[in-house]
Amino acid sequence: MSILSDSVAGYLEHASWIRRMFEAGGQLKAKYGADKVYDFSLGNPDLPAPPAVEQGLRAFADHASEPFAFGYMSNAGFPWARAQLAAYLSRDWGLPLHAGQVLLSCGAAGGLNAFLRAVLNPGEEVLTFAPYFVEYGFYVANHGGTLRTVMSKADTFAPDLEALEAAITPKTRVVLINSPHNPTGVIYSRDEIQALCDLLDRKTRELGKPIWLLSDEPYRFLAYDGAEVPTPLAFYRYSVAVSSFSKNMSLPGERLGYVVISPLLREHEELMAALTLTNRILGFVNPPVVGQYIMKAALGSEVDVSIYAARRKAMAEVLTNAGYEFLMPAGAFYFFPKAPGGDDVAFVNRLLEERVLAVPGSGFGYPGHFRLAFCVDESVIRHAADGFAAARAAF
Ligand code: PLP
Repeated sequence: MSILSDSVAGYLEHASWIRRMFEAGGQLKAKYGADKVYDFSLGNPDLPAPPAVEQGLRAFADHASEPFAFGYMSNAGFPWARAQLAAYLSRDWGLPLHAGQVLLSCGAAGGLNAFLRAVLNPGEEVLTFAPYFVEYGFYVANHGGTLRTVMSKADTFAPDLEALEAAITPKTRVVLINSPHNPTGVIYSRDEIQALCDLLDRKTRELGKPIWLLSDEPYRFLAYDGAEVPTPLAFYRYSVAVSSFSKNMSLPGERLGYVVISPLLREHEELMAALTLTNRILGFVNPPVVGQYIMKAALGSEVDVSIYAARRKAMAEVLTNAGYEFLMPAGAFYFFPKAPGGDDVAFVNRLLEERVLAVPGSGFGYPGHFRLAFCVDESVIRHAADGFAAARAAF
């Protein structure tokens, strides 16, 4: 007698690769000591939050004993927080945004779910480019939809628009993109975003129903060598961006994110009413109080990205010296090298013997590669060099 839904029982049976690595890492750390295990499996930012976060917390603490300091609020967030964020994003992204186009959510994950709940009908499809952040499949299934993947262009991981066009059917409701990208570190160029928007505009007309473009951008702040991170909101009416303070302020456990509606969408009030409702009925009810006060004080500040840049350089050196093939990430904090020998699972298991933890590309719908998250101290990267070299030599 199963006490669970079939889908959740199935998820539990096929535990994610990240989870498996987490468990394998725990065993290795218990056996050899944490400093002898080189863990690149998790995208959990290790840098301290910027000092303005602490100032925001202290300022909030000063009035925390007042009635309703932690009270419920509008399901879209505090009006002042939405206005502040809209003004900031208007400047930062060069778009005319107002508070009515911005909703605060429980992380980017909460924002993605609120949006999908608002637009998906059961049986409709969401298309995304593989490799992809594996949680997308769960989020889409949460709302009765099906996630379908389209392969990114081999080697460059650029969006393959011909393949996307071939995959679009009358069932397609959303195209979900992520730039800077987890797990490849690729940033989609302005031309690629523009061409994608043109394609969706044409397909929307042909099919006579909107195909939404959902742009997941939690790594937007982390672009190296001055790379530009274009957003589709300026190009396409039916576009929505989702982001958060999880990575840029190292606040992933505080769960503050946001959804931004394209200023080109005429029906923005209707969509915002829907998002406000779905934020509530999915059980989030409203975004976190404390997170919004932190944002009040800290908006515009971020972790020291030069530290990520130095680690990226260190990881590139280690991988190059050991003979790996990889694309230098333009953004985010991941490398996605080719698995020597071609079998990503076998290779990641070999790395485990060297006490190096990575995630196989199979966990991102893209076998043959593996992901390394470099939100770890640079010394961990340097100390893992011998392990990377030994595993490479074994294939
Ligand atoms: N989208 C991508 C591509 C991510 O990598 C992550 C977290 O790792 C998320 C969304 C979720 O971020 P948040 O903590 O803001 O919910």
